[in-house]
Amino acid sequence: MEWTRSETLGIANHACTQCHGLGLRGGRLSERQPCNCVLRAIFRICYEKFHQVSTQERRMSRVTLDGTGSQCRRVVWGRKDEEYIADFLAVAKRTLREDEHKIFRLHFLLGGTWRMCCDRLGIDKGTFFHAVYRIEERMGRVLREMKPYALYPLDEYFSGVRMDLREAKKAAATAPLAEVVEMPSIAARVSSAGVAGRPLEAPLKGTRRLSVLTHLHKSNRRAA
Ligand SMILES: [Zn+2]
Repeated sequence: MEWTRSETLGIANHACTQCHGLGLRGGRLSERQPCNCVLRAIFRICYEKFHQVSTQERRMSRVTLDGTGSQCRRVVWGRKDEEYIADFLAVAKRTLREDEHKIFRLHFLLGGTWRMCCDRLGIDKGTFFHAVYRIEERMGRVLREMKPYALYPLDEYFSGVRMDLREAKKAAATAPLAEVVEMPSIAARVSSAGVAGRPLEAPLKGTRRLSVLTHLHKSNRRAA
């Protein structure tokens, strides 16, 4: 993936001594890499959203209809908030080392202060904050570069940007990125959920609705 200044400029730290607020480091255009302040900003934006959707009441969660396949011919029902929570946790699990993941769980998921984390893990303050910066930077990069559906930008994730999976795989094969985490597509998640590849249906839809209503009618008559 190629990072551009138009993408990094808005979220870079203006006081950053590495990129001076531009968000990119490196000489030639093709070799430019995102500054750590940009990666940390991406992580914090995604973490804030994770905190919001995981603490809100479950009735606030919306059900969406998403197209799958190369032509988007099949549609499946999805719950974006719950998918986001699962994806965010999966990125942490796959990206971080075991010791980093312990700090991630204690500090970011359970809300432990630095003092509590240091006591529990037997590390000093400096080691803890270095690890937190490293977690934010590593996860920030993966959250943006992940294929085919990156968690950042959030509006693209939640508005359901459609991407041909074959095109995404072709792009990854021509320019492989070692640190990119590939998440299963929506269709693969549906088939692995034990419904034999059948897309999820809306509750009480079509003939199922009729059969349920007939069953209810019969049991009411029997009760009477
Ligand atoms: Zn910077």
